[in-house]
Amino acid sequence: MFSQAQISKFRELPTPFYYYDLEVLEATLKSLQQEADSYNYHIHYALKANSNPEILKLIESYGLGADCVSGNEISRAIACGFPASKIAFAGVGKTDREIQTGLEHDIFCFNCESIPEIKIMNELAAQSGRKARIALRINPNVNANTHKYITTGLEENKFGINMWELEDVLSVLQHCKHLELIGLHFHIGSQITDLSAYKGLCLRVNEIQNWFYEHKIIVDHINVGGGLGIDYEHHRENRIPDFKTFFAIFHDFLELRPQQQVHFELGRSVVAQCGTLITKVLYVKNGVNTDFAIVDAGMTELLRPALYQAVHAISNISSASPTLKRYDVVGPICESSDCFAKALMLPETKRGDLIAIHSAGAYGEVMASQYNLRDLVKAVY
Ligand SMILES: *Cc1c(COP(=O)(O)O)cnc(C)c1O
Repeated sequence: MFSQAQISKFRELPTPFYYYDLEVLEATLKSLQQEADSYNYHIHYALKANSNPEILKLIESYGLGADCVSGNEISRAIACGFPASKIAFAGVGKTDREIQTGLEHDIFCFNCESIPEIKIMNELAAQSGRKARIALRINPNVNANTHKYITTGLEENKFGINMWELEDVLSVLQHCKHLELIGLHFHIGSQITDLSAYKGLCLRVNEIQNWFYEHKIIVDHINVGGGLGIDYEHHRENRIPDFKTFFAIFHDFLELRPQQQVHFELGRSVVAQCGTLITKVLYVKNGVNTDFAIVDAGMTELLRPALYQAVHAISNISSASPTLKRYDVVGPICESSDCFAKALMLPETKRGDLIAIHSAGAYGEVMASQYNLRDLVKAVY
């Protein structure tokens, strides 16, 4: 997948680094735009997956809106050209300052996650002399069948407002003169590959909409969140996610009232496959069952394996050896969880070889840390 010319270029760069293939990103954006346009769906890119300015500017140029989960993400989105009228702001713990940032920019919508938050939002909107557009983030109690750390749509999770609280929410809202309810918001989790979870979500949203209808409320916007998974294993074959099938589920199962607009918040599926973490082998050390390939990138550059037991495809892009050997590919950080792969078959590997850790464009660079006082590493395009 990398040409000899690219690999020679990589050899001259200090490792590790994130390599972003903007052609892959553009191909993904074209497909996403085409499939979303066929239903008039609105897409907000979830900045938290990758908030690199180069990448954001490219995404913005395809007309996507932004989904932010912090005040700094709102500022970054605005700085990279996203119009405030396409910015949604979610999160269970928005600070006063962050809410004010959203109010100052008059963003499209605040996704509210609790009654106490709604009350504070109303107060802050009153103080700034504005009216805030809000959507209620409702916990639909739908299982996304994904890793427990990235499931968000179950009643036991901290996210969203539970169904039994909705009567109270409506009575609180009656006294909130500075809030305008414009939407309902849902987000059931991330790296969802069993798409039947989305059918489940649609059916739940239909029920919830009926409940609102009985309370004489029809909102203009239904935001069904993000979470579409990618193929970490077959990253070459399935470089572009199947947006067509994904949107078709919503088209087939979501019941809309006239005028209602559907919004999505996609992060991972937009940026994961365009990024690769390139790292160099420092040492090959003999182990009991397998050898260790100790590389110069660690959990500080890509936390997902340590955090979610995530598996990324890994290749040795500089070894031409015909002999395959078994390696644990590990980083240099003083944590046993700092391990990218166990018992992986690779061409015989030696000091100085370049290793590519694939599908690292989402939740990679954004989660980087300086643990062990390491340097933050660069991105190359
Ligand atoms: C993280 C998040 C998303 C994006 O999730 P992906 O799995 O990256 O598509 C969308 N909406 C909300 C509210 C989120 O927290």
